[in-house]
Amino acid sequence: MEVYNTIARRKQVFQPKEPGKVGIYVCGPTTYNYIHLGNARPLVFFDTVRRYFEYKGYDVTYIQNFTDMDDKIINRAGEEGIEPLALSSKYIEEYYKDADSLNVRRADKHPKVSEHIPDIIAMVKQLVKNGAAYVVDGDVYFEVRKFAGYGKLSGRNPDDMKAGARIDVDARKRDPMDFALWKSAKPGEPSWDSPWGPGRPGWHIECSAMSLKYLGTNFDIHGGGFDLVFPHHENEIAQSEAATGEPFVRYWIHNGFITINEEKMSKSLGNFSLVRDILAKYPPELIRFFLLSTHYRNPLDFDDEKLSAAGRGLERIRTSVRLLLEALAKPAGRESAGIDADFSASLDSLKGLFEAAMDDDFNTALAIGIVFDLAREVNTAVQRLGPALSPVDRDALLKAKGLFKMFNEVMSFFKVDPNTGEMLIDSVPDGGQGLVEGLIGLIIEMRQEARKNKNWVFADRIRDGLKELGITLEDTPQGVRWKKQG
Ligand SMILES: [Zn+2]
Repeated sequence: MEVYNTIARRKQVFQPKEPGKVGIYVCGPTTYNYIHLGNARPLVFFDTVRRYFEYKGYDVTYIQNFTDMDDKIINRAGEEGIEPLALSSKYIEEYYKDADSLNVRRADKHPKVSEHIPDIIAMVKQLVKNGAAYVVDGDVYFEVRKFAGYGKLSGRNPDDMKAGARIDVDARKRDPMDFALWKSAKPGEPSWDSPWGPGRPGWHIECSAMSLKYLGTNFDIHGGGFDLVFPHHENEIAQSEAATGEPFVRYWIHNGFITINEEKMSKSLGNFSLVRDILAKYPPELIRFFLLSTHYRNPLDFDDEKLSAAGRGLERIRTSVRLLLEALAKPAGRESAGIDADFSASLDSLKGLFEAAMDDDFNTALAIGIVFDLAREVNTAVQRLGPALSPVDRDALLKAKGLFKMFNEVMSFFKVDPNTGEMLIDSVPDGGQGLVEGLIGLIIEMRQEARKNKNWVFADRIRDGLKELGITLEDTPQGVRWKKQG
């Protein structure tokens, strides 16, 4: 099995610290709002990584933190007139609702900053003792120059960084690159007592303290979005290795950005899609399928049209599972087998191909292609069946069903009945959503065509007909959008 290790800048054979075990730490959200699509990608991807390691028989320990104390939280809580930790706990609850919808399993531990202050203080003390950090007026800074390996993850050279850095007004720092491990309390802000006076942790130190606490040094996988490589993860390495004197992490895995209508997601652009809003429009299975349909390191563009295409893909898989279950419900017969002998062999080969795709740096896009191949094989096989099922046919179909379930254990598009272990293929609130999206898209295209040909009567007839069905069209710079009233 090979994984792309950001620090090595290439794929490497995966060798865990301890045979048969994997420790994974993923940076979780800062809890001052509902999660957005950019948060959902690492959630779904690393959940799939965890599930695949389990599929391969590893004993996985999965840790994902909550940053429940930070400037953004304090500011937002101030605006709303509530305590910062009350705001955090509200959005942690909301996080769980969204994650559960997306079939993302709870981590083995979801550590919070506010519950790990003693661990953080102990680590900062160790850094000061080791001469890697210094204290100024109740603040503690990490001294970047004292850590020889600084820049090894992001590939940045500290000398270049210094030349390019903006003039830092904080003259108390020995170097503009030095970053805060502990911040002295400002009036009205939450604070904890420390050897340096009341204050709170800087952002980076929390992930070092919590990952080391639960996974130990030199743990297997640290994950997050590409945007965390610098400075967050670079700083985590510096703090952790300077404190313990041992390597911090074996494999760094980073997922690519999400764009919406080809614009990078940001609040200032106003395309800040909350998972909550997207789930109001699309079934969660489809969001999960869509997020996994592109390789995790590639950028992923999100728009309604691409979602519709993904919906058609997911529908194909669902239809095939349904046909398979219908065939298995046929009465038993003694007639000779309808399914040819090659079917079973091709199932074995699909299982191998699926694993090869996932073993190659978690290529979920390719693995989904294998699920489509399975759907095609099954559709062909069930067509050959007679009105009754011979024992040979039944065995072949059960094997195919087992394979669908195995693939679904990893991809987890469909929720599974906790009692029976069966896939809930009809759990989608609107099973026809992909089809509806596709059909309306086609009708809109036909109307555009009519307008292009100056066939105004026909174009208006389409618009009016849609309106009678409660669907209104709106011309936007990005093309025609539609929405359903009520
Ligand atoms: Zn982190």
